[in-house]
Amino acid sequence: MPVQSDRPDIDAILRKQFGFATFRPHQRQIVEGLLAGDDVLAILPTGGGKSLCYQLPAIVRPGLTVVVSPLIALMKDQVDNLDELGVPATFLNSSLPPDEYNRRWRDLNRREYRILYLAPERLVNAEMLGALQGWDVGLFAIDEAHCISEWGHDFRKEYRELSVLRDRFPGVPLVALTATATERVRNDIVAQLRMRPPRVHIASFNRPNLSYRVVPRNAPMKQIQGILADHPGESGIIYCMTRRRTEEIEEALTRQGIAARAYHAGLDADERGRRQDMFLKDRIQVMVATVAFGMGIHKPDVRFVVHHDLPKNIESYYQETGRAGRDGLPGECVLLYSGGDAVRIRRLIDEIGDEHERSVARAHLSKLTEFCEGTRCRRVQLLQYFGETYCNGDGEVLQVCGACDNCLNPRERIDGTRPAQMLLSCILRVRQKSGFGVGLQHVVDVLCGADTEKVRRWGHQGLSTFGIGSEHSRSEWTHFARELIRLGLVRQDAEAFNVLEVTEAGRLFLKARERIEVDRPMMTGRLSREKREQQKKMTGAVAYDQEVFGRLRDWRKRLAAERGVPAYVICHDSTLQAIAVEKPSTLADLSRIPGLGERKIAAYGEGILTAVRSLGTGPA
Ligand code: ADP
Ligand code: ZN
Repeated sequence: MPVQSDRPDIDAILRKQFGFATFRPHQRQIVEGLLAGDDVLAILPTGGGKSLCYQLPAIVRPGLTVVVSPLIALMKDQVDNLDELGVPATFLNSSLPPDEYNRRWRDLNRREYRILYLAPERLVNAEMLGALQGWDVGLFAIDEAHCISEWGHDFRKEYRELSVLRDRFPGVPLVALTATATERVRNDIVAQLRMRPPRVHIASFNRPNLSYRVVPRNAPMKQIQGILADHPGESGIIYCMTRRRTEEIEEALTRQGIAARAYHAGLDADERGRRQDMFLKDRIQVMVATVAFGMGIHKPDVRFVVHHDLPKNIESYYQETGRAGRDGLPGECVLLYSGGDAVRIRRLIDEIGDEHERSVARAHLSKLTEFCEGTRCRRVQLLQYFGETYCNGDGEVLQVCGACDNCLNPRERIDGTRPAQMLLSCILRVRQKSGFGVGLQHVVDVLCGADTEKVRRWGHQGLSTFGIGSEHSRSEWTHFARELIRLGLVRQDAEAFNVLEVTEAGRLFLKARERIEVDRPMMTGRLSREKREQQKKMTGAVAYDQEVFGRLRDWRKRLAAERGVPAYVICHDSTLQAIAVEKPSTLADLSRIPGLGERKIAAYGEGILTAVRSLGTGPA
């Protein structure tokens, strides 16, 4: 069938200008909706490819596309990216010197740009609205649209004023984009922006290239070291609850020779900007951050995200881990879990004055601890939280992903008789000897034979149960104790300093020499080599020529430094990997590599081919 002349060939543009062979899920429908002049609400997870949804129409549609974005730092990045693709784009913000600002304004008057990035407060200023009316706007794209809603996780009141757009530009289509899934936020976006009944596209929230792992936090620095050892030279983020903790970890990592910086709201804006820039340009490997380090991170090659402390809730956890693997290559998400964190947070929650707020916070926390302690596939649990069933491409429901800790090391039931007997006798012996009960930590100290002040003061090193439990780690003992509490053999007295008591059922169990089964404890150490290979395979890692890849990276690094842009602006790791698989030898071969459009091939093709060749010539 001949292509209608008035219908642009968006597949060809995708290939030539962006260098991509196929659309990601929902991209095509969103682009087509906008080309038809409809309003569109697009809900795609991080890394789902939201930018393309408005950038492609911006190239095709007549007039200027105005993109509203909350973060000034991000605009430059986006414009650099578009520059590389050969799309004339610019931004206006307060960081520009007046000369430059005026020059851009003049070029806008001359219709020299296809895309203009603006912060919301600048867009709604009267002078700007007037100017836009003269610039023939063809499309408005509202990025991070959840910022308009108080129900979202990042409300910004400047976003509220965007409601004027519908009045001032009644005929111009509007696309709102976000990665926030909740229905409340969705409805709020549509209402606040006064969208004409929009076409709504909601993508799956599954991030197949991310793996999730929950590890009891028993030796955090050592555990972090292990994760870093699995990601040599790769970028990562470590999230912490407090500013102080970010600085402590920064210091510890720096001492080990790892380029790390802390990032939190206590630093002034300049310093934060500087550190973010260092991270984007790979001058530091690890950002140790509070949640203040958030939405601005469009670095596509973040390979791991560690939560040193419990995140605020599952939604935050999903957003924060979502910053890994935007480029589609594997990303590892590790949560260092401590039951103690949960207890502390519960105490803080108890102090919340407002009853409704308190109960919401409690519900969030219990969902989160359920997730952490759960034995089912992490991916299945996460998706379920967002009301989604985990399916394969054929729509079959799946119960396992094969890449998370619970899939790699299934938490089957094990015989817990021996540890249960040890724990129960230890609790009884302590009470017998001292006449009072003690908390979980002390019982574990006695079982593990720890030399603590309390052990010495109370003479517990003389107990027959002292040190008999050295075959299990502290976190395993904590796990066993939790299981016994759950099974009703031990009671934790919340009224009396969480002292442990053996219940009647516990005594009977000991006397009758019964057997019990418990959940196997979570792994605290690193994944075995073999499991790690499986994890990588299940999250889409491919085999490529490491040497060629290294050479390409060096080439890209030089180029990026020359131009003062982050390396990923030149091209992504995924592109370099594809080259290291295919080892193309002609410019024509390069056009089959994802991420290389015509413009990039013209600019870099020869450089890439040289980098490939200089290694590919070794003896066969
Ligand atoms: P989001 O804003 O939704 O998090 P981005 O727009 O930053 O995602 O896109 C994430 C990455 O996916 C980018 O590196 C982009 O180049 C890439 N990408 C977008 N669309 C496609 C596609 N159709 N095929 C391959 N890669 C794509
Ligand atoms: Zn799984």
